[in-house]
Amino acid sequence: MAKQYETVIGLEVHVELATKTKIFCGCSTAFGGVPNTHTCPVCTGMPGSLPVLNKQVVEYAIGVGLATNCKITQYCKFDRKNYFYPDNPQNYQISQLYLPICRDGYVEIRTPEGDKKIGIHEIHMEEDAGKLIHDEWEDCSLVDYNRSGVPLIEIVSEPDMRSADEVIAYLEKLRMFVQYLGASDCKLQEGSMRADVNLSVREVGTTEFGTRTEMKNLNSFRAIARAIEGERTRQIDLLESGEKVVQETRRWDDSKECSYPMRSKEDAQDYRYFPDPDLVPVHISDEWLESIRGKQPEFREAKMERYKREYDIPEYDIEIITGSKHLSDLFEATVAICSQPKKVSNWLMVENLRLLKEREMDPEDIRFSPEHLAALIDLTEQKVINSTVAKEVFEVMFDQDIDPVQYVEEKGLKTVNDEGALRKTVEEVIAANPQSVEDYRNGKEKAIGFLVGQTMKAMKGKADPASVNKLLKELL
Ligand code: ADP
Ligand code: MG
Ligand code: ZN
Repeated sequence: MAKQYETVIGLEVHVELATKTKIFCGCSTAFGGVPNTHTCPVCTGMPGSLPVLNKQVVEYAIGVGLATNCKITQYCKFDRKNYFYPDNPQNYQISQLYLPICRDGYVEIRTPEGDKKIGIHEIHMEEDAGKLIHDEWEDCSLVDYNRSGVPLIEIVSEPDMRSADEVIAYLEKLRMFVQYLGASDCKLQEGSMRADVNLSVREVGTTEFGTRTEMKNLNSFRAIARAIEGERTRQIDLLESGEKVVQETRRWDDSKECSYPMRSKEDAQDYRYFPDPDLVPVHISDEWLESIRGKQPEFREAKMERYKREYDIPEYDIEIITGSKHLSDLFEATVAICSQPKKVSNWLMVENLRLLKEREMDPEDIRFSPEHLAALIDLTEQKVINSTVAKEVFEVMFDQDIDPVQYVEEKGLKTVNDEGALRKTVEEVIAANPQSVEDYRNGKEKAIGFLVGQTMKAMKGKADPASVNKLLKELL
């Protein structure tokens, strides 16, 4: 019988923190910018310059640590990880090896076999490197240090995952915690969240782990799933043909759906780590820790439970809305203004999701304000505009965050409630469509739909279809 293999996966996840300034200097972390303009002597590694730790980085790291059930290292330090590469002007990266800020946590994920805990080995703080640009340059490479010194946390899991589904569930959970904390937008495509996949296989029933490889360059959940499948197959094929898996770092090429060796795996000792003498150890007092704990946001699970208690909206809507911090903030803020949870949820779930999909946007990119959505709901409730017009106004609001009240006024979109004007139009429509009138009188109920349509058209959409229907029936 063919051997059965089990896949063993552990992740190293880097998250770029959303601080305004870098981890050890006052330079801006803003994305883009002319190359090497967000730099200073500290983040370009000039001799004699001294790093100063950004307090917000520590607070974000602790926030993520508390959310993932970690123990917080109240006396923690930074270490130098030494290596030479042109994207690293100091010739060392400031990171944490001996006393990382968070340790021994876990995240719970849902699997078909029930809830499962994925262990977190540690979370440490470190600085990002610069960016090398090789493309288009034949005989040289360029380097941009704008990203040098941007704060990162690295979340290292235990090798507790067994499938791509578990990996994705784990990453989604992490991403939700970090986004709810406002610590990062966690976009895989843009590199503000980067996951390296460590994978080994072993025969089912054995207890020892096999030799692992580490895969880099995975910038979507789909690429991660494909890379896991590809690497699992590659390792099993090696073992089946009597060869050995080599411990190494590999680069996944998603367009070719295969991976290439990048470098043999280096050990911690290759980096000659030692405590950074330029930075004082960080002492996190009980008071500081408690104040951070007190400021933790309501996370998704708790929010979902509360929504179920407080709002009479479908569970499916709750899942979608709480799936994005921005969407749930928008929902709550709008409900606080107009007290119509069902209406708010409807707009967010139907027209809003449709436009997000059409414009290829994330919920995080929504621009319209809760005030404007509440105002639009109010306009429809008061029957100032009908539902067709409301959808048109919503679309403009979605794209440009216009004030719907002002927009409806300026564009003359109000429903005509002038009984006289409506009656006159209906009479004209009746006169102009004798065939439909006759059909209706002969019992063809459907014919009235056509007449309603004609009246709406004549009124440029600014009538209330129900009133038109009623009036038509009266006059016929
Ligand atoms: P190193 O410091 O050499 O990179 P770590 O112990 O930090 O090694 O492990 C890095 C990552 O690799 C962790 O996420 C861990 O869970 C995972 N890992 C370790 N051993 C294995 C293995 N045999 N198979 C799969 N993943 C592993
Ligand atoms: Mg490691
Ligand atoms: Zn700087």
